[in-house]
Amino acid sequence: MAPYWTRSFGNPASATHRYGWEAEAAVEDARERIARAIGAADPSEIVFTSGTTESDNLAIQGVARAGRARDGAIATTAIEHPAVLDTCRALAGEGFEQGVLPVDPDGLVDPAALEAMLGPRTLLVSVGAANSEIGVLQPLEEIGEICRRRGVAFHSDAAQAVGKIPIDVERLGVDLLSFCAHKLYGPKGIGALYVRRKRPRLRLAPLLHGGGHERGRRSGTLPVPLIVGFAHAVELCLEDQGAEAKRLAGLRDHLWERLSGGLPGVRRNGHALRRLPGNLHVAFEGVEADAVIASLREFALSAGSACASGSGEPSHVLRAIGLPDALARGALRVGLGRANTLDQIDRLADRLIEEVGRLRERHGA
Ligand SMILES: *Cc1c(COP(=O)(O)O)cnc(C)c1O
Repeated sequence: MAPYWTRSFGNPASATHRYGWEAEAAVEDARERIARAIGAADPSEIVFTSGTTESDNLAIQGVARAGRARDGAIATTAIEHPAVLDTCRALAGEGFEQGVLPVDPDGLVDPAALEAMLGPRTLLVSVGAANSEIGVLQPLEEIGEICRRRGVAFHSDAAQAVGKIPIDVERLGVDLLSFCAHKLYGPKGIGALYVRRKRPRLRLAPLLHGGGHERGRRSGTLPVPLIVGFAHAVELCLEDQGAEAKRLAGLRDHLWERLSGGLPGVRRNGHALRRLPGNLHVAFEGVEADAVIASLREFALSAGSACASGSGEPSHVLRAIGLPDALARGALRVGLGRANTLDQIDRLADRLIEEVGRLRERHGA
């Protein structure tokens, strides 16, 4: 990334001199590599954005507003990220219809129930690839097949999935895919939206109007260093994705075995197998997760996603899987990644068992 902050400082939209061409070549090279990483047929199907929030907004608002009708329907699920749910809610305020599909106690979407929800006015289905709290992986391929058959556009927020598990937009039948660099060890402030160009060709109304960058889909000067970093980060993830996924799943399962073997009243949230390799979500009976987290400051734990924590309320995801509020208050997410070792996992297990036991004793539980 470094040369693009100094030596190669050109604007990729400057078509009249060498500095511009150099920047443009770097952007187009990165676009090609990012497209390849998600199995896109053509690099022009990648639109650069500021992150997954913007990608979700562009996908959902873009499809909704591209048609002339203001009474189209959008089908989504109860466990989507706020970037999806709140976007749909905002559109509902303008007359669009928002259908919210419940999930089962494991956090899984039932494709047949989703299909039953589709009507003649449905423009778009939006189902996230991997949940940001409980890590559950949805059956995208089946949902993609339904959307294709019913002629409905299919959007998936894959911020948690790209770089962690194989994602191929052709195989999955996804028409729009949101993701970003900072969830895969890349820089913050850069994301992408994959927009299918053929079969079907998707029409998208832009959120940002202006110079017509990104083929009119997203105006504004491109942040070249961030884009270069994005492409490199995603390639580094893909290099050892299979091996790293296996390693993380091993650490995750080891942590679960230690916790469930070392403490009574521990529950794992989200499907046991259909989940991100690096995600363990657990609920401890009789304690407040905030108190556990506060006494384990040497670990970076959270009670929800960074986007919703701090509100004090049980998250909409935990409500949707039917976790009782008392248990939801004792729930925390452990996200494992590239830097984590077995030694750290054992230390975390020791400390969690110790602290949860101590807190329960103090409260006479
Ligand atoms: C992090 C995240 C987002 C928001 O991404 P930003 O790049 O921070 O805008 C959206 N959806 C999911 C599933 C996420 O994990």
